[in-house]
Amino acid sequence: MITIDGTYGEGGGQILRSALTLALVTGKPFRIDNIRGGRAKPGLLRQHLTCVQAAARIGDATVDGAALGSTTLLFQPKAVSGGDYTFSIGSAGSTTLVLQTVLLPLALAGAVSQLVLGGGTHNQSAPPFDFLQHAFLPLLRRMGFVASAKLRRAGFYPAGGGEIEVSIFPPDTLRPLVLEERGSRTGQRADAVVANLPWDIARREVATVGQMLNWSAEDLHARSDAQARGPGNVVLITLEHENVTEVITAFGQLGKTAEQVASEAAQEAKRYLATPAPVGPHLADQLLLPMTLAAGGRFVTTPLTPHATTNIAVIRQFLDIAITVTPAGNGLYAVTVPGAG
Ligand code: AMP
Repeated sequence: MITIDGTYGEGGGQILRSALTLALVTGKPFRIDNIRGGRAKPGLLRQHLTCVQAAARIGDATVDGAALGSTTLLFQPKAVSGGDYTFSIGSAGSTTLVLQTVLLPLALAGAVSQLVLGGGTHNQSAPPFDFLQHAFLPLLRRMGFVASAKLRRAGFYPAGGGEIEVSIFPPDTLRPLVLEERGSRTGQRADAVVANLPWDIARREVATVGQMLNWSAEDLHARSDAQARGPGNVVLITLEHENVTEVITAFGQLGKTAEQVASEAAQEAKRYLATPAPVGPHLADQLLLPMTLAAGGRFVTTPLTPHATTNIAVIRQFLDIAITVTPAGNGLYAVTVPGAG
């Protein structure tokens, strides 16, 4: 039995989600203790519990410890079945993180799956829907996975109520992903979205981004979302290059001015543009599992985050493969992933 320590490395929810994905694909059971032991409020929150329940449902798993607040879980899957599934988090927890838990097992299950996921779609410390759609899924498709997503309604913290729809088809051929250079810039845009908040916030945010990045009006898009159930505000900066698209995010919150939110996003965009690394820190930790389960490959990124190094360790617990990280010059690193697919 694989035993995982939830306090290891980053000590957050990703250890659990990656273990669930790997258990479903390999059929290996695992036990995890001290779930989210590195977080201020450890144990299973609604999002993590939904990940466990969704994984158990698609993999007909025997589970012990699937309860809110639980710090220990035993997960023993059977075969994964594709099909139509609806998973609702019941809070503003991140739908994209629930999706990332079940996406690869469903993609490799040999049948078509249609998912509807309810909860948050634009959450702090999680991939916002736009990142999933423009940064993450296109790279999965390049590896040969066939998946697309649609935003039915945005959901912000704390009201939630968002919904995404995802279609997954069995892949034909899985290919290595090689991402060593960005290529030249092919597009750029900043979107500031407000839901149930004054439109002027969005207008000030795009004005700030425009000023800080020296972008013109045609790159700046302020809009109001009339569908979301509660208040919300997000600034999204999309940087498109020939080989990769990066989506950078900052969230509005009480006590922060529109200018502060926008300048957080613009600063991060500047940091991304200041190096030639094609893969940003979030994509780096999120590409490891799909590459491992497809045909591997190699990418260049900035120094690995604790999320990425922890994910490498969790993968190693399930599969006998060595992901290597070597200096690639100018403070960048090349990550080489042998595919297990
Ligand atoms: P955890 O903190 O363990 O729940 O994992 C959070 C996951 O969300 C990691 O894969 C992060 O890379 C990802 N993430 C956090 N913030 C962002 C963001 N702004 N854009 C894309 N992914 C993100």
